[in-house]
Amino acid sequence: MSNFFVPGPTWVRPENLQEMARPMIGHRGAEFRELYARIAADLKPLFATAQDAFVVTATGTALLEAALVNCVPRRLLVTTCGAFSERWFLIAESLGLEVDKLSVEWGQAIDPEDLAEHLSSRRTHYDAVTITHNETSTGVTNDLAALARVVREESPDTLVLVDAVSSLAGIPVLVDDWGLDVCVASVQKGLALPPGIALAAVSAQALARATKMPYRGTYFDFLNYKTHADDGGVPSTPSIPHFYALAAQLDYILRVETLEARFRRHVTMRDTTIARTSKFAKLASDRAHASATVSALAPVRPPDELRAAMKQRGYTLGGGYGKWKETTFRIGHMGDISLESLNAMLDVLDEVAIGGREAPGEGR
Ligand code: PLP
Repeated sequence: MSNFFVPGPTWVRPENLQEMARPMIGHRGAEFRELYARIAADLKPLFATAQDAFVVTATGTALLEAALVNCVPRRLLVTTCGAFSERWFLIAESLGLEVDKLSVEWGQAIDPEDLAEHLSSRRTHYDAVTITHNETSTGVTNDLAALARVVREESPDTLVLVDAVSSLAGIPVLVDDWGLDVCVASVQKGLALPPGIALAAVSAQALARATKMPYRGTYFDFLNYKTHADDGGVPSTPSIPHFYALAAQLDYILRVETLEARFRRHVTMRDTTIARTSKFAKLASDRAHASATVSALAPVRPPDELRAAMKQRGYTLGGGYGKWKETTFRIGHMGDISLESLNAMLDVLDEVAIGGREAPGEGR
């Protein structure tokens, strides 16, 4: 049973923590190659791609930056609907790129028609467009399939760069069907592993673009990852404990739980969270785009008080993020959290928010 409901890092199954305690192996030997081969094969169904997917020892932010370094020579369009989609903009500016923004209010999703209008009405040609699939600060899931389709139709050689950090393995992501060029995920969210490695599916079109970029740096050069992946490994010493845990977790997700059941469980967790908190908190985001992995809620009682009272009862909930910090709290219902654990937590939250009963020691 989990008592940890932060929207990343999220609760890790003890079996996966055990995997990380295995003895060390060399990353240039046969054992690592065998481990890497299993991971590489399982990343394909996870991302729904027949193309390349890499594992990098870094967090998701590093791969957002890598996507820009490898794929954007000059002009970028960033779509924003919250704090994490805004991160693309900050990274792009730090790299000296020419960036435009298409924004909606926090709590709303990007409208594909607005994107189509923006792309068709400007004379500007963008090298790439960024889309944040699941905006963790507001609990909004963008219609990634529709948004990517718009880019493909309006501007076929514009690359689609996707942050799937808090959606992959919790919400369907179909890299090849939807025509995504770089799709980034961190493992401490839907994959429910400790933070420390990140994943990227990279299309042939994105790799072709990288060949035209004269300065791609070293650590995050996708072409270097491709060369080593084709040879059964990674360019530099990886976090080997994470690789053990990732191999085990991919096996669990794909063959024990199955992706379809995992996606269904996440939808049920979202619907349960929204229904069971409605008496004392308003969903802060648009219900039609409510995320299956995280809910941002505006409670009647001050959110920090509510969280502190929950902490006293042994439960950790997520705080509000960015400009929603004071008014919301977040429940992460992602990864390996069971419906049973979620309901047990919601029983206590209900009591704290409505019953107003004090925990031992509270308020004395
Ligand atoms: N993008 C989204 C949507 C996120 O939720 C987060 C982290 O919460 C990040 C990017 C940053 O990921 P990381 O902390 O792995 O660098």
